[in-house]
Amino acid sequence: MEEQTTKSTRKKHTRNEKWRLPIRVLILTILIAFVGLFGVLLLSYNTEIITRNYEDIIINDYENLEYMESISRNFYQHQALIFQYMSSIDNETKRTGIEDQCELLKFDIIAEESLLSSNVIGTPYESYYHNIYSGMNGYFSNVEYIYEFSKAGDLATAEYYMDNMLASSILEVNKSVDQLNEMMTIDVNKAQRDMSARMLFSRNSAVILIVLLTIFTAAGLTWCIQASMDIANKDALTQVLNLEKLQNDMVRLYRKGKLSDYVCLCTNIKDFTLINQRMSSRIGDIVLRNYSSTMLQNLKKEERVARVGGDKFMLLVLKTHIDEYLQFLDKAAVTVDTEDGARVLQLDVRCGLCSIGKDDTVGAVIDAAHMALSQTKQPGSPDYVWYEQDMLKQIYDRKELLAQYKSGIKQREFLVYYQPKVNIFTNTLSGAEALVRWRQDSGLIPPFKFIPMLEEEGRIIELDFYVFDQMCQDLRAWLDAGITPVKISSNFSKLHLHSPEFAEHILEIVKKYEIDSKYLEIEITESSGYDDFQALMNFAKVMQQQGISVSMDDFGTGYSSLSLLKDLNVDVVKLDKTFIDGIGIGDLTNEAFVRNIIHMIRDLNRHVVCEGVETQKQVDFLIEQNIHTVQGYLYDKPLPHDMFEDRLKSPVYAAR
Ligand code: C2E
Ligand code: MG
Ligand code: MG
Repeated sequence: MEEQTTKSTRKKHTRNEKWRLPIRVLILTILIAFVGLFGVLLLSYNTEIITRNYEDIIINDYENLEYMESISRNFYQHQALIFQYMSSIDNETKRTGIEDQCELLKFDIIAEESLLSSNVIGTPYESYYHNIYSGMNGYFSNVEYIYEFSKAGDLATAEYYMDNMLASSILEVNKSVDQLNEMMTIDVNKAQRDMSARMLFSRNSAVILIVLLTIFTAAGLTWCIQASMDIANKDALTQVLNLEKLQNDMVRLYRKGKLSDYVCLCTNIKDFTLINQRMSSRIGDIVLRNYSSTMLQNLKKEERVARVGGDKFMLLVLKTHIDEYLQFLDKAAVTVDTEDGARVLQLDVRCGLCSIGKDDTVGAVIDAAHMALSQTKQPGSPDYVWYEQDMLKQIYDRKELLAQYKSGIKQREFLVYYQPKVNIFTNTLSGAEALVRWRQDSGLIPPFKFIPMLEEEGRIIELDFYVFDQMCQDLRAWLDAGITPVKISSNFSKLHLHSPEFAEHILEIVKKYEIDSKYLEIEITESSGYDDFQALMNFAKVMQQQGISVSMDDFGTGYSSLSLLKDLNVDVVKLDKTFIDGIGIGDLTNEAFVRNIIHMIRDLNRHVVCEGVETQKQVDFLIEQNIHTVQGYLYDKPLPHDMFEDRLKSPVYAAR
């Protein structure tokens, strides 16, 4: 329960981890977009300020230019009137009229001059203004003299003022006005040019910023979308697709009517857990990553691979490419870097295949590939299995059997049979093996029909203890009834070896029925892996401390060698029936082989029991080899409780 909680927390944690980076990039992108937008706003505000500042300068200068133009115009008119004044010297009325007009013009000029002065005092134009001002003053003083001398009748002096003094003041004023005009015009033009340049710079910067911003935001968002799609569609460890994405792709192909161009494969790696256990889960992860990437490299563009979970992958391969692809899978190997350097691991792959038909739906195809894969795990099945129609029935039968098993245990439908072991030197009963039978309405079901299935489903443990408990119960009853029993062996699947409570549970049952350990033996099928070997050693040690013997069943069918047996502290080795089958039929090589094996096992001080003895010739051969104990149909088949009880009561076999 606690482990489950940790697993689910870890799962959640990795899910959160996966999303962390894209979320960070998204936030950063939004932030940068905001900062950029702020920059653009700032730039356009800056443009506004620049425009306003320059506009003020330009407006000001234009205003001044207007004043100057107006001053010049009025000044020019004033001069013209003064000339008229001089030519109308005899006409007093006209003169007075001209004088009045001149006064008005002078008033205008002074007013405009004062407006001009308020604009230019304190600016670089000030000195020019002063020139105009002093020129004007000089001009108006001379005009006053002209009036005075004219009125006094001194026309010559008046004309002198007119031609010399007035002319020089006019020249001075005009010169200063021209200079100021020129300067202001230059300034206005310059201000206009500056303003345009600055505005252009601001606008260009804003445009570049907007373009950069758009590119960056688009790139950031594209990355986020891509990363989120990868997270949503890909397997985190191997980076191939996940099942959900594969299903979606299959639905799309189905809609286009193209799904039937493919074969759907469901594969897994044989004994992958051993890689994890023996070499560490880190190496296991590397194997999965390398394996999936080689699978991917060998696929065509329109083909797909997805990780379903663990070491299970699902693939869509074109029918035209499947033969070639299976050849690749058959040779699949990965290189892993271990502490001892790079190592090439040849992978044994199991594969369920479903050739997709026109009307097959995605769900049906996936189920079919899974089913085909599960068939590869059946005893004797090949590693590559194509889905066939009756598989579904087999799977349903299996499910039904499993459901029946549950109720079978509750209803105590399982019976324990005992197959005698015989001392062939004395022809007497020397032991027995407890073997389970399932009694159903249809009759007795033999173990091979349900034991392998229960082992695969991890349900065998329950049944083994059921049998052992029943066996101890029977032993107790025989002992209580005064019937002397024999040593009886009970079968335990090697799956138990990984359970820490295995030995403890056995001892509990022994204690419950108070059975002397000399009546007990535990049979474990030959171990194929080092882990099992190690676990078997530990288990055997505990049993032997309690006086219970341990035997290695079906020796010779698996992978363990005599050299392993050397270190394995089991008491009994049960030589498999396949060795015995070849005795007494003229196969001298086999007989020599069996002879050698028996001697070697005996040299290791292990007691040898031969199973599946069916003929007298076999017995004769085994006697020659000094084998004492055999088990086989020649003497007895597995017997129901009562018949075995009879055998206990009369333990001697008829002489042959
Ligand atoms: P096993 O433990 O090697 O048991 C010996 C099998 O060989 C038994 O088959 C037995 O009936 C059969 N046998 C013995 N002598 C002869 C013979 O002369 N000729 C032939 N043809 N067969 C012979 P059974 O009872 O069908 O059991 C098959 C296997 O089922 C057992 O092989 C054992 O691996 C497994 N099994 C049976 N009961 C249990 C159990 O309670 N727990 C576990 N884990 N496995 C069990
Ligand atoms: Mg056995
Ligand atoms: Mg056996």
